[in-house]
Amino acid sequence: MSEVFFANTRCKPHRGMVQKFGELAQKAGLAEVVERRDLVAIKTHLGEAGSTAFVPVMYLRRIAADVRELRGKPFVTDAGTLYVGSRSNAINHLLSAAAHGFTQETLGAPIIIADGLKGHDFVEIEVGGEFLDKVKIASAAVHADTLLVISHMTGHELTGFGCALKNVGMGLGSRGGKQQMHSDIKPEVNTERCTGCGECIRWCPAGAISLKGKGEERKASIDHDKCIGCGECTVMCFEGAIAARFHVDLGIAQRKIVEYTMGVLKGKEDKCIFFNFLINMTPACDCWDFSDAPMMEDIGILAGRDIVAIEQASLDLMNEKAGKDVIGGIYTAMDWTEQLAYAEKMGLGSREYELVSID
Ligand code: SF4
Ligand code: SF4
Repeated sequence: MSEVFFANTRCKPHRGMVQKFGELAQKAGLAEVVERRDLVAIKTHLGEAGSTAFVPVMYLRRIAADVRELRGKPFVTDAGTLYVGSRSNAINHLLSAAAHGFTQETLGAPIIIADGLKGHDFVEIEVGGEFLDKVKIASAAVHADTLLVISHMTGHELTGFGCALKNVGMGLGSRGGKQQMHSDIKPEVNTERCTGCGECIRWCPAGAISLKGKGEERKASIDHDKCIGCGECTVMCFEGAIAARFHVDLGIAQRKIVEYTMGVLKGKEDKCIFFNFLINMTPACDCWDFSDAPMMEDIGILAGRDIVAIEQASLDLMNEKAGKDVIGGIYTAMDWTEQLAYAEKMGLGSREYELVSID
């Protein structure tokens, strides 16, 4: 059974949350996974322009300092996005990061965009999954010796929740990899709700949406041959007129993310630590250009070496505190547990865990 370490949000003089985060890193075995001269990737989400809920810079600065203390060479990393936004190439990504306070000076470590200037810098890794034989992983993630994963728990319109599995699997897939993971998600327009405003057209990176019909009958229409399944339109339509085709496709997307996670972690089984931040938990992910009010009260930070165990523990803590299925209550047409069950089946970890509280 895997140990998952947990720090709640209660603090006192000389023991704030950053201090507790450092304690969690020690408990989870930072000194074991970081060896002298290791190139240590600190994977996080640097925040889409306009979002405000991502994990703040002081935690990254702390872990980078701890890595340097162990004589490792830390770098902060993320890969480019599939959709049009502020992080679709390395230059924009670094500028967005700087706008959010993430720079070499503030972090005490350089930022390296893991899949290069335009998202084409990847290494193919064999995983032998049910859907994908090989996955295309951002090269800096593959070449790093150690991986420290800093994840922010959010709801997610395509996977129910997004935390460590999504941060690793989707987050470190190259552009082509992200496209593979999204390819089964084909949204549809509910023409009764659609007002024909055309807003979704502006957000579609693939030019897949057009307005068809005249007058009041003018409605959005999606060309599924062009659609790359990024899901952008499902959130940007404020009439709620576009939904991904649940059940049919979204379980496959969850499982492909697991297969990408297998590719990232392959060969690093003993060289990873995962940190889940159950703080400022917004209903949609940090890839959007806004951060809505949190879906529940803050809980704390978890740390562990088993990515499945820490995800399960995070969801259990949330549901226990809320007294209900938090994610299931928001994304009602989706079974968010599929990714956990599949990750366990594929040998990424165990849903059984022991929660060790450090208070
Ligand atoms: S689907 Fe939504 S955003 Fe697109 S035209 Fe219809 S109402 Fe507007
Ligand atoms: S139709 Fe929607 S999901 Fe498809 S590419 Fe356009 S924005 Fe993305």
